[in-house]
Amino acid sequence: MQKNIVYSIVVPLYNEELVIDESYSRLKKVMDSTYENYEIIFINDGSSDSTQKKVQQICKIDQNIKLINFSRNFGHQCAITAGMETSIGNAIVVIDADLQDPPEVIPEMIKKWKEGYDVVYGKRAKRQGESFFKKLTARAFYRLLKDMTSIDIPVDTGDFRLIDRKVCNTLNSLPERNRYVRGLVSWIGYKQTSVEFIRHERFAGDSKYPLKKMLKLAFDGITSFSYKPLVLSGYLGVLSLIIGIISTIATITKHLINNTNIINFGFIISINLIMFGIVLGCIGILGQYIGRIFDESKARPNYIIESIINNKENIKHEYTN
Ligand code: UDP
Ligand code: MG
Repeated sequence: MQKNIVYSIVVPLYNEELVIDESYSRLKKVMDSTYENYEIIFINDGSSDSTQKKVQQICKIDQNIKLINFSRNFGHQCAITAGMETSIGNAIVVIDADLQDPPEVIPEMIKKWKEGYDVVYGKRAKRQGESFFKKLTARAFYRLLKDMTSIDIPVDTGDFRLIDRKVCNTLNSLPERNRYVRGLVSWIGYKQTSVEFIRHERFAGDSKYPLKKMLKLAFDGITSFSYKPLVLSGYLGVLSLIIGIISTIATITKHLINNTNIINFGFIISINLIMFGIVLGCIGILGQYIGRIFDESKARPNYIIESIINNKENIKHEYTN
């Protein structure tokens, strides 16, 4: 008989061979203490180390564990999307594998869910063991995003959160690509609250979010929820036009009064560089939006699943190419 799964824990994995055993045992301990049925869904996002092998071994001894293997690395946001689309629990918790988000916070989230909240997000009260650069850029980005959007995306929260089945279903029905999941959850609405936690140092290994991936996520966040960069580039154009008109009038007037040759080569070059910088920057901003429209028009799936292990229930969203 099929079990009535109450909780689904979604854990993305990219080259996490050093953390997987510890992550599994801490999650299992916490989830066993709920005395309710649960599933832990590991998503192997195209790892090139022994992550897949290690989780497969866990799957053999523990039927509560499911493993989704992607055909290649599609990225963290796609991995958690696949986990949510495969989940069958009444409440779904998304958590990183590296134990920076402590599994011991999950019971607190469950308590809030049982009080009637549909979304319980983890708010980072403190970040330990992360570089000054990471903390600074994260802090600046969350505040920039908040200023740019009209929806209330809470600052200092990642993807560590519990969502109710109805929120998960709504999220799964949104077809957009280049997903910024934490923003989408805020956009959906429902009754939301937070629990504070201290974000610890990574249990082992290095961050799988190099600057390039961080920038991609930041652009996804901004372009998915705000037109302000486009509006701003328009303002910048008007501003440079006004400066251009004023400087032209000043130059001609100076020329008429003093009757001197005021054309200075260095000055013209530097003005040109500034103008080109502004124009190319604005085209770049435009490109960020057009590229995403291009992705939408191609309508390719967000990820491709190569195999699923221990998924006896109906696979809801299996994509193949
Ligand atoms: N991750 C993933 N695909 C990626 C990059 C990361 O599934 O392309 C997973 C990773 O294994 C971890 C989570 O996403 O479970 C967060 O990544 P990480 O801890 O490296 O990011 P950081 O905490 O340094 O921002
Ligand atoms: Mg981490």
